[in-house]
Amino acid sequence: MAYLQKSPWIIHYDASSCNGCDIEILACLTPMYDVERFGIINTGNPKHADIFVVTGSVNEQNKYVIKNIYDQMPDPKVVVAIGVCATSGGVFRECYNVSGGVDMVIPVDVYVPGCAARPESIIDGIVKALGILEEKRTAAVMGVSREQPVPAAATEKPAGGV
Ligand code: SF4
Repeated sequence: MAYLQKSPWIIHYDASSCNGCDIEILACLTPMYDVERFGIINTGNPKHADIFVVTGSVNEQNKYVIKNIYDQMPDPKVVVAIGVCATSGGVFRECYNVSGGVDMVIPVDVYVPGCAARPESIIDGIVKALGILEEKRTAAVMGVSREQPVPAAATEKPAGGV
């Protein structure tokens, strides 16, 4: 962690989870796991966030919200998909309105498996994300982009103007 240039700030979005993974994310903030001791702060403002943490699967309603939050975050940024729903659609994958995991809409850097994902796995995923964030920052300083392209599904217009 000593290599970090600044404290990483996280924004968390619950796409359509059952709240199981969200409760485990909250557990990471409690004194038991205490991720704030690493300077990791949970923010509600995407303009202040470096890491986008998403739980739940992607559907026709929330894919525009996910893309909107992602677009508001400054570069460089890292996306972490928490739980099997966010990584692939999980148990909701076959639902009529579910598109799949978060990578249907935005590029995902780290996939954290589990149903629900355990706090230890979530913290491990965030630490991996920190390393990728530093690589992207270094690449940006050198004038090289490490950002992945945005999936085509994210560029479609919403029917209801969400
Ligand atoms: S992965 Fe499991 S615990 Fe997490 S949101 Fe999906 S169903 Fe709920």
